[in-house]
Amino acid sequence: MKAILLTEHGPAEKLQFVTDHPVPDPGPGEVRLKVGAAALNYLDIWVRNGWPGIKLHYPHIPGADAAGTVDALGDGVTGWVVGDRAALDPTISCGVCVFCRSGQENRCIHFGILGEHLSGTYAEYITVPARNLIMLPGHVSFAEAAAASLVFVTAWHSLITRGELRPAESVLIVGASGGVNTACIQIAKLAGCLVIVVGSSDEKLAQAKALGADAIVRRDVEGGWSRAIFQLTAKRGVDVVVDNVGAATFKDSLRAAARGGRILTVGNTSGPVVEIDNRLVFGKHLSILGSTMGPHHDYVTVMNLLFKGKLKAVIGATYPLEQAAAAQRALEAGDVFGKIVLEI
Ligand code: ZN
Repeated sequence: MKAILLTEHGPAEKLQFVTDHPVPDPGPGEVRLKVGAAALNYLDIWVRNGWPGIKLHYPHIPGADAAGTVDALGDGVTGWVVGDRAALDPTISCGVCVFCRSGQENRCIHFGILGEHLSGTYAEYITVPARNLIMLPGHVSFAEAAAASLVFVTAWHSLITRGELRPAESVLIVGASGGVNTACIQIAKLAGCLVIVVGSSDEKLAQAKALGADAIVRRDVEGGWSRAIFQLTAKRGVDVVVDNVGAATFKDSLRAAARGGRILTVGNTSGPVVEIDNRLVFGKHLSILGSTMGPHHDYVTVMNLLFKGKLKAVIGATYPLEQAAAAQRALEAGDVFGKIVLEI
């Protein structure tokens, strides 16, 4: 089958397109999915570059997101027939630990993500546990479902489950263009919140506005953006700050929060070690709430909102599978608004 293989860490040139990779057979409880579209996440770049302690089984296939059609069923799989359209929850869990049994699969003691801990979706076929699939309605494209999966479950779990957003709260989203942040803008609006977005360019901020942002602030605004947020909120600050940027912004995020505010984080695109002025944390009664991915019931909830048209996948660019390296370079360059999709 066609696939993108990684045999060592390094730049995008390390991604090899092959046409003769063996088609995987589904094990017990697994389904083989014929991939219609895969989507890129920044995670794919981290995995490609590597970090101390990461262990990939080479050759490794990158990619967490996919949607496609059911192609073969492993032993014991019920509820699916060959040809069904399906979207794929990218969180891999054991299904039996105390967290899995209480519906918290993203805290599983054997937690994994497709394309990081296991071979991923940049391929014509992938085998996955049947419990990870949900039925994909005919009016939703493979590209939309793939583009939405990881970022929407991550954003939903962070904002709604962990962050407990309530109507009329003010939400500041730091960063306008990433997949998770564009999902956060839509989810916070759907929850009835006032949404402010801080971004690096007028073009990206205009696109954030088109997605529903009520107010936009340039990151390089004179006097600093946290001060601009303070002025914008009548010196109150915001109820919730979504900061998935990390090192470059966390300090200002703490400043921009109102008394009793919550800081939500699912990642750190600018680096993991952040500066915290602890006086702000205790003095303003702040909560810092982290999470990663989301449990399967959050995946089902947020994907149904996509299927009903309440949320939309923002696709910025599409490439054929064989141009995965060019697609990753575009993601690294940061000049695409929304998701990058591989059509397979
Ligand atoms: Zn588990």
